[in-house]
Amino acid sequence: MRFDWTDQGTPTVEAARCTGCGLCTRLCPDQMFQLENGKAQVVAGSFLGCIACGHCVAGCPTGCITVRGRGMTGDDALPLPPKDTQASADQLRTLMLTRRSIRRFTAEPVDRAALDQILEAATTAPMGIPPSDVGVLVFHGRDRVQAFSEDACAAFARLGWLLHPVTLTLMRPLLGKENHRAMRDFVRPLLQALVAERAAGRDDFTYDAPAAMLFHYGPESDGADAHIAATYAMLMAESLGLGSCMLGTTAGLSHDKQFKQKYGVPPKNKFGLGLVLGHPQEVFQRGIRRRLADVRFA
Ligand code: SF4
Repeated sequence: MRFDWTDQGTPTVEAARCTGCGLCTRLCPDQMFQLENGKAQVVAGSFLGCIACGHCVAGCPTGCITVRGRGMTGDDALPLPPKDTQASADQLRTLMLTRRSIRRFTAEPVDRAALDQILEAATTAPMGIPPSDVGVLVFHGRDRVQAFSEDACAAFARLGWLLHPVTLTLMRPLLGKENHRAMRDFVRPLLQALVAERAAGRDDFTYDAPAAMLFHYGPESDGADAHIAATYAMLMAESLGLGSCMLGTTAGLSHDKQFKQKYGVPPKNKFGLGLVLGHPQEVFQRGIRRRLADVRFA
């Protein structure tokens, strides 16, 4: 489903089952519902109209609202697991604290069922505005991941002109001082090192992982949507006992038509994070305290 500003969701209310509780009138961010004669009626929204956020469907106590369009089919309500099966704060913290970036994997393959669970978790990620315009390339099996790694490193090699010191100097007014320095002193040497390692038969890009995912997003959506979806996928992988490592260099693939063409990614889409997955070789004994750069209650 491609993102389209002009598409609208169409909510409908099954009047016979509506109790007139009014919850939908409070939940809808665009005031698409009004109570008339004790029943919910769909009215024109106050701003964007129905964006198919699903709040009304999720909240209606009798389940009498359906929404079609803008990515919804009218059959999107899922039963929620019992509240007492929800992860506690301690469980969630344990998951997050235990997770480390894994770059050494055993030979054990990743089950297809696990990949499906990880992808399903990515679909639950919040997004700026529905429908999602995030896509995922899935590489299942070492051979496919290696082919991806090979193609990505070839694309990085083709990016040489863009990261050439002369090009970067010309682009400095657009990039800004800090970005220019980061591209020159970090991104360029890093991509060059990945290409050189690949040429030497070593895989420092996907770490010889047995599975990988590459998130991408459309030109009218926010890159944060792809990053959050990748983060949800990563957390689900951790809960399934899989190690993972996020790849940021994948953003560079956004500039390579050949790579996009080969994998059927729309030309204007950009790549967000990559995620390599597998069974970790090592077990870690403790978490590491991290600190945000700046926290203040303003
Ligand atoms: Fe009717 Fe459901 Fe809206 Fe309550 S939330 S008023 S039952 S449509």
